[in-house]
Amino acid sequence: MNIGIVASEAVPYAKTGGLADVTGTLFNVFGKMGNNVYLFLPYYKTINNVNNPEKATEISVKIGSKDIKGNILIQKTENGTVIFIEQDYYFGRDNLYGTKEGDYPDNAERFGFFDIAVLEAIKKLGLKVDVLHVNDWQSGLVPLFIKDKGLKIGTLFTIHNLGYQGNFEQGILDILHINRKYFTMEGLEFYGNVSFLKSGIVYSTYLSTVSPTYAKEIQTPEYGVGMDGILRARTDRLVGILNGIDYSVWNPSTDTLIFENYSETNLYGKSINKQELSKEIGLDTANKPLFGMVSRLAGQKGVDILAEALDNFLKEDVRVVILGTGEKQIEDALISLEQKFVGKIKALIKFDNTLAHKIYAASDYFMMPSRYEPCGLGQLIALKYGAVPIVRETGGLKDTIDNYNEYTHCGNGLSFDEYSSNALYNTLLYANKIYENKPVYENIQRVGMQCDFSWNRSAHKYMEIFEKIKKEVTAQ
Ligand code: ADP
Repeated sequence: MNIGIVASEAVPYAKTGGLADVTGTLFNVFGKMGNNVYLFLPYYKTINNVNNPEKATEISVKIGSKDIKGNILIQKTENGTVIFIEQDYYFGRDNLYGTKEGDYPDNAERFGFFDIAVLEAIKKLGLKVDVLHVNDWQSGLVPLFIKDKGLKIGTLFTIHNLGYQGNFEQGILDILHINRKYFTMEGLEFYGNVSFLKSGIVYSTYLSTVSPTYAKEIQTPEYGVGMDGILRARTDRLVGILNGIDYSVWNPSTDTLIFENYSETNLYGKSINKQELSKEIGLDTANKPLFGMVSRLAGQKGVDILAEALDNFLKEDVRVVILGTGEKQIEDALISLEQKFVGKIKALIKFDNTLAHKIYAASDYFMMPSRYEPCGLGQLIALKYGAVPIVRETGGLKDTIDNYNEYTHCGNGLSFDEYSSNALYNTLLYANKIYENKPVYENIQRVGMQCDFSWNRSAHKYMEIFEKIKKEVTAQ
């Protein structure tokens, strides 16, 4: 099968969140399964792990009244070919999507250009592609352009987060030369705007999202963020496939970024990680449970109820470390907690992959009280590193974390249902109590470390859909 993955980020090249982990890992997994795989990415100024990519060809895309030129760069890897779209005006910036002040104002134009350029690259390079796997709003126009050009390429559109919709003013239609016949309620019109996400939902051959529970939730008014009706209309084409994690990257027994390797049969190394991280960040955690968190600091992640709950919980003899960046107001709330509870909590406001690894390895508990969570990778990584997850029962968190049951002694974490600081606070108190009972705590920890959330099963589910899509397109 010839598969193209289109994404705005993928590890190890560019990452702001879980989308990058998923697309970058799937690229490798599909390749290892024997498929011919292409990964299409913008060539950002901040791109990593690229070694003198070969300039394969040039393209020119009409944007407004200008012909915008770009280069197609190619880097071959053992699992497939990475194809970068180079256009310095659009992608030669300090960040992927925007600055602290907000999104780049021309994001519609930047990613509209990217979507057109991907199809241009396929044409110019003469690539045979059976299925394009397009991801999130940044590549949401690809299915529309395929339809408009009458290309024989099937698409799977994966929604990693319905909260980010790429809705822009109508003027973008003319800038990208999109025929107004598509600007309807059945098309990409969304409350008077142009929605890149809706384009992906409406014009793709199949749709998926990243957990079975989230696939159901997005078809309800509460989590559908205005798209629930259109998703219900395509329910027979919508599947939920759970994300996995890449255990060659996230594995405490081989991880080179942590202080000491360990496994579920030898947890001594985990205690070294706790000691060393404590020294590094200046937190005295001896004989105290360490509650960690690594997250984008966005409303979705439940940081509002967390800040409230911690305001009470930090009165206990516990330690907290939070690594994240995001909304200023949330960053400030965490910094004030650090000033109020000196020596008990560290709020590390930055994006730092090495530190993230160290926090997973050092923490006794990992907090993810999300308001909603399409799948979540943090809790899967935490399981593997023996940091017992504390999660809210929503989306992928519900599909992967079983609340510990004190009668049957089953469960791989702790969870709560109601989205409130009180429910979270009570769960944190319960976690603290469990930590004092070492056999019980270690049992939950070991069960978690034995869970298998590798990509194998999920990758096969993707392949089944790709086969269906290919068959459908061939029959057309
Ligand atoms: P989302 O994709 O919604 O941000 P996920 O849980 O699916 O959330 O994935 C988040 C990924 O990004 C995880 O691999 C997590 O470790 C990583 N991450 C989030 N914030 C940071 C940060 N500040 N520094 C390093 N890694 C981070």
